[in-house]
Amino acid sequence: MALHCEKGLLPLLCREPVAEQCLYCGKHFCVKHGHVDKATCGNFSCMQNYKRDRAIKERELWEEERRRGGIERNAINLCGHPECVNEVYVACGHCEVLFCPNHVSRRAFSFNTYTRRSVTRVQGDIILCEACLPYLKEYKKDRYE
Ligand SMILES: [Zn+2]
Ligand SMILES: [Zn+2]
Ligand SMILES: [Zn+2]
Ligand SMILES: [Zn+2]
Repeated sequence: MALHCEKGLLPLLCREPVAEQCLYCGKHFCVKHGHVDKATCGNFSCMQNYKRDRAIKERELWEEERRRGGIERNAINLCGHPECVNEVYVACGHCEVLFCPNHVSRRAFSFNTYTRRSVTRVQGDIILCEACLPYLKEYKKDRYE
């Protein structure tokens, strides 16, 4: 039997030819029951997943762009922040682009290291640029040995 759209609801099964498979739930859908260009069916949760993934992707592209721009600016001794006129002073501990003192901040973090016998609290700090601030939470994560 041919593959038909799987998005119809009983008793109104959709008999349209399939156009795409949903990336999230794996169901095949027709042009009416989803977004072929996004490979996402019309399910609310599938659309939410799609939006979340797209936001992550856009954020990654933005960071990549910013990092590339920063490195170019650093090559002529300028702070990596777009349009900043100051000279470089210190590197961001995460993306390693160089910035002036106005465009980085020092952030403290601490986490627990768990071994089978003990727990050790580790304190540290890191210099981060604006774009890398969300990564501070990665440094706060507990570690297990
Ligand atoms: Zn789906
Ligand atoms: Zn359909
Ligand atoms: Zn950074
Ligand atoms: Zn700056």
